[in-house]
Amino acid sequence: MPDTIFTPTYLILLGGPGAGKGTQAQWLMVYLGLVRVASGDLFREHVRSRTELGQSAQRYMDSGELVPDELTIAMVMDRLSRADCRYGAIFDGFPRTVGQAEALDCALAEHGWRIATVIDLQVPFATLMERLSGRWICSVCGGTFHATMNPPREVGRCDFCGNALYQRTDDKPETVANRIQVYMRQTAPLELYYQQRDLLDLIDGTQSVAAVQVAIRGALTQRRLHP
Ligand SMILES: [Zn+2]
Repeated sequence: MPDTIFTPTYLILLGGPGAGKGTQAQWLMVYLGLVRVASGDLFREHVRSRTELGQSAQRYMDSGELVPDELTIAMVMDRLSRADCRYGAIFDGFPRTVGQAEALDCALAEHGWRIATVIDLQVPFATLMERLSGRWICSVCGGTFHATMNPPREVGRCDFCGNALYQRTDDKPETVANRIQVYMRQTAPLELYYQQRDLLDLIDGTQSVAAVQVAIRGALTQRRLHP
């Protein structure tokens, strides 16, 4: 008898900054028994261990150019060939563009594989803004507060030591708004791409963490992907 022949499950997780993607990725890894493949991590790994792919990527970065999609795909496919990916993988932060999505589809198809579903955590702009831009930090004791979810007793003052609270540049509304807009602009064509292939599962990301998980489980069941 040959070894079990089966198709690995490849999932893509989409969600803007503050959409709860990290939390759901952690849970999905355990729930489905799949590893998470993040292109940023792969990149750093290849550059650090000075592989051929890493050195090519480094040359592009050194000259201030974008790393070509073929290189990114090569790193992803190399990752998928390792033993811990034999049942599939959850792609996080990748693909970022329609070009990458097409290249990924082609590379998977060469092995007779395909994307099983794209889980898209939907959170409106205003909610992301509220989640991300309300953080206030104490410069003395490091105490952290949130304007609506965990407000200090007195506005602008630390509950623990009474010193003034400040906002990091990253947490300021204009910076946060820009990050969210960049994500939405970048992701819209990708959502369309997967929607046209009937692979997009829209999940209401404004719900509680547990409710989001129920919704994702429902979507996986619909596609017969439950473990
Ligand atoms: Zn303090």
